[in-house]
Amino acid sequence: MKVAHEPAEVRALLDQARSEGRRTGLVPTLGALHAGHRSLVRRAAADCDFVVVSVFVNPLQFGPGEDFGSYPRDLEGDCAQAEEAGAHLVFAPSQEAMYPVPPLTTVRVERLSSVLEGRSRPGHFDGVATVVTKLFAIAGPCAAYFGEKDYQQLLVVRRLVTDLSLPVVVVACPTVREPDGLALSSRNRYLSPPERAAAPVLYWALLAGKRAIEEEGATDPAQVRAAMRAVAGREPLLALDYAEVASPEDLSSPATITAEVRLLIAGRLGRARLIDNVSATPPGTEA
Ligand code: AMP
Repeated sequence: MKVAHEPAEVRALLDQARSEGRRTGLVPTLGALHAGHRSLVRRAAADCDFVVVSVFVNPLQFGPGEDFGSYPRDLEGDCAQAEEAGAHLVFAPSQEAMYPVPPLTTVRVERLSSVLEGRSRPGHFDGVATVVTKLFAIAGPCAAYFGEKDYQQLLVVRRLVTDLSLPVVVVACPTVREPDGLALSSRNRYLSPPERAAAPVLYWALLAGKRAIEEEGATDPAQVRAAMRAVAGREPLLALDYAEVASPEDLSSPATITAEVRLLIAGRLGRARLIDNVSATPPGTEA
């Protein structure tokens, strides 16, 4: 497996691979890889003949006071994991390589970027959309793999690909969880032992909302939000940010639940801000 630090080198390697008839796959990450990232790389390696994993802690997507400075960085470990999962290339650019001059261009996906995570982290999705667009421009025509764990990000990326006619097929991959239900995240390493013990409460809250819809027939989003909040509220270490019911296509709030919805939750445990989501489908409406 190769490691490249310059965009031009990555573009040349992927152009070369495509000219040989190989299908190219891209897995964008912030690094600090774990089994969730590895599942994306494995899926990409199953679909494609040449897989590049990007490792870049993108300053544009961190707000003031967020964890840009302390975000875990371990390129050697990331390369070992990427290779083990089937990657052919790791792209690990410096900040200067990605942003040789301070960018004057921002990619902004309206509406999808201003709700939920966007409300709590202003500018976050502009940073994500901008860097992902750059990575797509560097990689060229490819399949790109994103986790459902970051469901809103997935929708933002899908929409920018559509709106900008980018030659990229976005592939969604399921959330990988710890045995107790906690979604894997690079930020889980911020959790103290008691916070780690409390962290699955986010998933339990989502499951309570899902049960309300799928087993108890709840159609009122307020009732579902209350079911999620009741579970989340039992954990004193959790500062809940939101527990919401949203359309899986555009994250709008349904008046009544008559078709599949996405349940999304976010909260802070100590210094870790964690997010999670699941889908829920009312009985008798399965596709
Ligand atoms: P990140 O490094 O956190 O930006 O994540 C890079 C990619 O990995 C994103 O597409 C995430 O959605 C995905 N990802 C992160 N955690 C998980 C997980 N637990 N399961 C599946 N995908 C994940």
